[in-house]
Amino acid sequence: MRQYDIIVAGGGFTGVAAGIAAAREGHRVLIVEQYGFLGGAACSSYVNPFMIHAIPDGEGGWIQLNAGIFQEILNRLKELGGLDRDNRSFNDEILKLVLDRMVTEHGVQVLFHTYITGVNTQGDRIQSITVANKSGVTELSADYFIDCTGDADVAAGAGCPFHIGREGDNACQPMTMCFRVINVDTGRFWSNWASANAKYQELQREGKIKNTREDLLLFHHIARGVVHFNSTRILNKSGVDAWDLSAAEMEVREQVFELYSMMKEYAEGFENSVLFSAAPQIGVRESRMIDGEYTLTAEDLLACKPFEDSIAVGAYGIDIHSPDGSGTDRREIGGRYYYIPYRSLIPKGVKNLLVAGRCISSTHEAQSAYRVLPIVCCIGEGAGTAAALACRDGADVRDVCVEELHRLLDQHGAKYC
Ligand SMILES: Cc1cc2nc3c(=O)[nH]c(=O)nc-3n(C[C@H](O)[C@H](O)[C@H](O)COP(=O)(O)OP(=O)(O)OC[C@H]3O[C@@H](n4cnc5c(N)ncnc54)[C@H](O)[C@@H]3O)c2cc1C
Repeated sequence: MRQYDIIVAGGGFTGVAAGIAAAREGHRVLIVEQYGFLGGAACSSYVNPFMIHAIPDGEGGWIQLNAGIFQEILNRLKELGGLDRDNRSFNDEILKLVLDRMVTEHGVQVLFHTYITGVNTQGDRIQSITVANKSGVTELSADYFIDCTGDADVAAGAGCPFHIGREGDNACQPMTMCFRVINVDTGRFWSNWASANAKYQELQREGKIKNTREDLLLFHHIARGVVHFNSTRILNKSGVDAWDLSAAEMEVREQVFELYSMMKEYAEGFENSVLFSAAPQIGVRESRMIDGEYTLTAEDLLACKPFEDSIAVGAYGIDIHSPDGSGTDRREIGGRYYYIPYRSLIPKGVKNLLVAGRCISSTHEAQSAYRVLPIVCCIGEGAGTAAALACRDGADVRDVCVEELHRLLDQHGAKYC
């Protein structure tokens, strides 16, 4: 059995930041990832662009809220030509390389093509995880674990309490397959975008579009002549049920083709377009969230409630793609920013596990805001730094000294207040 100081489960934005933050404090760190690349949903589900990560400072400049490791990712993407002028759209192939280099430089070991299938506990500690890959089924042990699977797989496997989706009925935000259409005359298309949207809504009213989303959600892509679609919508399926996921993948491929065909027939600029690529995996916005030491709420975020144990900040507003049908509930933060408390990363019942990313302890409404890439990256950085301190002292993750945690985050340019 291989032994590490800290094992990070999942190599998305959260896991990469957690791994780097833990390793730079001198620990032996392993990231275990089911795919053959880092980046999580940004690469496997084509999530793009980065949502808001800076706010105006009122004097013509910007306050970079999601700084630290996220800022480093932005810088490196820019250096390699992988970040658009808007600082938001990025090239996910270049992103994969950037993340490989960053973890390698920090001495983080990465085990790709490896699925975490089980968690082995003794009392209130996790001893090891069971993984399956081409080499067989093995155990990997560590002193501390950080669950960055998005679905809280490790916490659930360890028996920690969790909830799924909306309070009362467990309904989750819909899944979406993002896809890209190339060879679009984008100049013509974007100046006539509204008429394509009106046509979509007309066809939907006539029952000719099955997708329930009320409008087209489309983005510029860093490559010219490409339109990025975030418009499909699969309702009432669970992101942690393999049968539901399988059915969702097939259902959504019909929606992808339906949308593409509609655009090619009716949208200006799409006459010679080609359906080029749909994401390898349908995107799951929401699934399990732990019941941790503090449950973050929409009220906390909208009031920008300060927390003494804050480890990250964010400015992306409440954004609930309706689990029931067509609408989207949006509530803005309004030029301010909110705080993420460390206690929301601490699951109940286990002393050597932190949970970071879109599955921290929160309500359905709050999760819809902090779940975006820049913010989960900073949550991961906070988690990795805290795990490093706990590991150094052999302490319960609850006993991490917050002042020391803040000092280390300051030292690395992360923003938490
Ligand atoms: C359709 C969609 C559109 C979105 N749009 C945007 C947007 O435009 N901008 C934005 O900023 N955010 C957007 N988001 C939100 C954002 O992408 C996610 O919330 C974010 O990626 C969560 O990061 P994470 O690291 O917590 O999880 P993930 O990115 O899901 O990473 C988890 C990683 O863990 C791995 N993993 C999971 N389980 C296991 C296991 N058992 N064994 C091994 N590996 C495992 C996965 O392969 C993955 O690499 C969108 C999300 C979706 C689904």
